[in-house]
Formats: sequence, structure tokens, C-alpha cells
Amino acid sequence: MPMVTLSLMRRLRAAWLLTLCLATHVPADDRRPDLAPAGSLITAQIGEAPVIISAPHGGRVRIPGATERAKGVKVLDTNTAQLALLISQRLTERLGRRPSLVVAHFSRRDADANRAPEPGADDEAYASPAAKVCYDAYHAALRACVDESKATFGTRVLLVDVHGQARMPEAIVRGTRQGSSMAHVVAEHGHDVIDGPRSLFGLLAAKGYVVEPPLRSQAQEGEPLPETPRRERFFAGGWITERYGAARDDGVNAIQLEFGRMRVESLEKTARDAADCIAEFAFTYLGAQRPAAAAGPPPAEGEGRSMPDQDALQEPKKGSGT
Ligand SMILES: [Zn+2]
Repeated sequence: MPMVTLSLMRRLRAAWLLTLCLATHVPADDRRPDLAPAGSLITAQIGEAPVIISAPHGGRVRIPGATERAKGVKVLDTNTAQLALLISQRLTERLGRRPSLVVAHFSRRDADANRAPEPGADDEAYASPAAKVCYDAYHAALRACVDESKATFGTRVLLVDVHGQARMPEAIVRGTRQGSSMAHVVAEHGHDVIDGPRSLFGLLAAKGYVVEPPLRSQAQEGEPLPETPRRERFFAGGWITERYGAARDDGVNAIQLEFGRMRVESLEKTARDAADCIAEFAFTYLGAQRPAAAAGPPPAEGEGRSMPDQDALQEPKKGSGT
């Protein structure tokens, strides 16, 4: 075959492969390609399930051109970005549909998406225009997720805001602003939706997790059984549960989960258990349909798919704070 023809064929083949790649490449969010604009340092998708996962404090990337926040907590919630991505992946398997998702990759030193945009006396969400771009992108994406989920599922939506804490290393701490951010499902099902046996915390406790505050059913000997869920003493719910929670007209059910340091050191197990509990909650209280493939017991450890970036999941460093 003449050299020219061979070269031409190679070029045509390369062009055809490129066309094929472009034609088969579907963006992570095909309905809203602008959900995570370039430079926003977030991962975001609008899913098809009545669950939204948010993780504002797990990012390590410094925002180019930003000035570090002068006021407020700046500590990383170690590995919670990966935790949120793993929870999302497992939820997709359990629900047969993708949850909505917003994960910050930007450092909290530059922008804190779990703070109100208006600076307070000893706190600020950001201190520079460059950081405001990332902060605004996070909230635009979360708002889009909440609005779209609410339009589709009404009051049967759950937003889970994922955090990490070192105060109680073994425990998962609940924040619902004393139940108010879960008002939609509480109105429909009562307080058991917060700490009953089929609540998120009831399910986590049944898997052996220490939950704070304890369930009502975990009353001490001789203690009368409380009539309402115990008060949330630490991390009762931050700006995201306040802004997007069910206490607001434009909100959905929202719960802040503060995973103890020990819990994020066994990332994949924690993610799998948390996702399985969230999925069960969705089947029980959000009207989610159990897909045929998930009708049986969940896959055991090691059977689920793993995130491709294993390096990022190993050797978690010590960290704390909400
Ligand atoms: Zn946090």
C-alpha cells in the first residue's frame, strides 16, 4: 500500500476514534452541564433518587488567587469528600438511581460552604472574590439539587450533609436542629423518623455504631423512656441544614452527620454502612422503590465496586472539626 494512502487511513482512523469518543462521552450531569463550572472546585450532579449528599469540608485544594479566611474554623474534615463520593456510589447501587451530590474540593481555609454568606463577628464564609466564586458555585449547585428534588419528590427528600469530627472519635453525631430540619418526614411519621428503629440513627445503631445523642430506646436502667428524641448537644446542625432544611418554605428534610475520626479511617466500610442505612430510610420514609437487583440482602464487604483513586483513600491523616 502506498505510503500516502496508509498515512491518510491512519488519520481517518484517528478522526473516527475521536468522533466516537466525543459522541459517547456523556457529561457526569447531562441535564445541567453548568452545575460544576470550570474553576469552581466542586463535584456536582443532579440525580434521580430522593437523596442529596453534600460535603462542604473535605476539600484540600487552595483556591487560586484567594485570601485565607481570617475568622472562623479552618480545619479539614479529613477524608469526608471521599466518604461522600463512596456513599453516593453505594447509594446508586442500592437505590438503582443516582443521588444528587455536591462535594467541595476547595480548602476550608479559603471558603467555608457551611457558613452564612454574611460575615459574623467571629466567622466568615470567605475573604476574597476568588473564594466567593467557589462558595457561590457550591450553593448554586446545592440549590439546584434541592429545587429539582423537591419539584420531583415533594416533601419526601433527604439531604445528608457529611462532616467529620474528633470530639467523639467512635461516634456519628446527629444534627437536625432539634428535629426542625426534618419537619416534613416528622409531620408525616412522627419522632420515630429521627431516632426510632427505622430511622437513620436507629439503623446505624443496629449496625453497631455509637450514635450521639443516643436513641430514646438506649435509656439507662431506671431512666424513664423519653417521649421525644434526645437533645442534640454537639454539632446540632450548621448553615446547610438551616438554609436547606425543612424548617424553610423552600427546604427539604436535612440531617448533618458528623463522622468520628475512627469512622473515616475505615472509609469504605463506613461509606457502605451509611449508604445502606440511607437507602433503607429512603425505602421506608421517602417512597423510594426497591430495585429488583437490590431486593435481596446488600452485597457483603468486598463485593461492591471500589473508587478508582485508591491512593486518595489510604493513610488518612489526623483531622477534626465540623
Ligand atoms: Zn464540617
